Amino acid sequence: MPFKDECGVFGIVPQAEASRQTYLGLYALQHRGQEAAGIASRSLGSDLNQIHLHKAQGYVADIFSESVLNELPGHASIGHTRYSTTGGNVASAAHPFLVHGRFGALALCHNGNLTNTELLREKLIQQGHTFNSPSDSEVILGLISRAEAGTLIEAVEEALRQCEGAFSLLILSEHLLMAARDPHGFRPLAYGRMPQENGVQAHVFSSETCAFDLVGANYEREVEPGELLIVKADNTTESRFPVARVAPRPCVFEHVYFSRPDSFVFSRSVMATRREMGRILARQHPVEADLVVPVPDSGVSAALGYAEASGIPFEFGMIRNHYVGRTFIEPKQSIRSFGVKVKLNPVRELLKGKRVVLVDDSIVRGTTSKKIVEMVRAAGAAEVHLRISSPPTTHSCFYGIDTPTRDQLIASHNAIEQIREFVKADTLGYLTLEDLRGAMQDPGDTFCYACFNGEYAVQPNGPEPKGSGLVPFPAAKA
Ligand code: SF4
Repeated sequence: MPFKDECGVFGIVPQAEASRQTYLGLYALQHRGQEAAGIASRSLGSDLNQIHLHKAQGYVADIFSESVLNELPGHASIGHTRYSTTGGNVASAAHPFLVHGRFGALALCHNGNLTNTELLREKLIQQGHTFNSPSDSEVILGLISRAEAGTLIEAVEEALRQCEGAFSLLILSEHLLMAARDPHGFRPLAYGRMPQENGVQAHVFSSETCAFDLVGANYEREVEPGELLIVKADNTTESRFPVARVAPRPCVFEHVYFSRPDSFVFSRSVMATRREMGRILARQHPVEADLVVPVPDSGVSAALGYAEASGIPFEFGMIRNHYVGRTFIEPKQSIRSFGVKVKLNPVRELLKGKRVVLVDDSIVRGTTSKKIVEMVRAAGAAEVHLRISSPPTTHSCFYGIDTPTRDQLIASHNAIEQIREFVKADTLGYLTLEDLRGAMQDPGDTFCYACFNGEYAVQPNGPEPKGSGLVPFPAAKA
């Protein structure tokens, strides 16, 4: 059971029902954030390039009704699904952010975390700037508004040059739609085209390509790390690179867990990568067993790969309840392991008396893995062999993923054998970092692996973001 998700962004121009297409895009990106969602749209003509906005806490389907979408007219739109990282889970931190300033109306949504937010915020406050939220995304808008540059595009470039850390951004102005990605490309941002009845090809942007599939867009390419891709009023595009190029470090955890398996992320199939992780896991950690069972949904693709390489039959030995909301009311008389039980239930008929290989993508604190192993054993499994399709997670993330502090990550201060004892598995096997590089077909350090090796491409500057941080390293127990 993995880290919590991050955020998803989607944008489209020009399209007659832009906000409805964005709504669908956000629907496909709901897995990236369930706390809040928002859409900004731009209408032309009599509305004089007005930008409309609606955002609220909750699921996409609950926030956007027919009548709400009717209030978001126009041919250009951007949207966001939010899981709180910087800024906490407060309504004021929902995206998109909308400001009216020297460049007119400007809406922005952001996936990622800046690592120098506090420095930039302080600088802007000294200049007299005020903020409505604790969000780092509002800081980016502040930088644009207070830039010395005379044009909006140059102001955006000037702002991006000051930002450190992770950002995949969509910015909607009265005349432009802009997509930008930080120089390391930590978070994904795909670019596609969408054919329309009038023959015009719309420009579409999404955190993941699964949203393209839903709206009928064709994947063209990634917005490149460091690129500012501008869609102009005449529907032409311009690509700029405002910041000096550095070696990209896209987040490997997108392939381990965050992204949907039906997406192409960083130009490669998530499903194919996860299956390869499972195949390598089977070769590195073989065991005599009767069944390969995934922890749904995150372990399914890797479990398929493990079953394929080992020849051990794959079974859905645990069923996930897909209708569990963000919160649920626990009965007054507390039920042991309620939080896990309400989401996952073992299939006793399949597990009884069987030697089970249980496959999951990662272990964070170890407490959830322990409950799942207990659950499978209680359902009658004779043996439980836990296999993890990533290396031990030893470090926190500063680039937009909500992680516990390092002292709470079980692998940061325990050897694998101690983790096995804690989760009470018969055997435990992880991928090594080299195995993971192999699955990613990475000859060197093409990806960010910082939560596995602590090698941060951008050092955090200022206070640690919510849920993560550089805390004193606890003395190793082994
Ligand atoms: S630290 Fe981990 S989760 Fe964060 S960007 Fe790097 S690989 Fe991804």
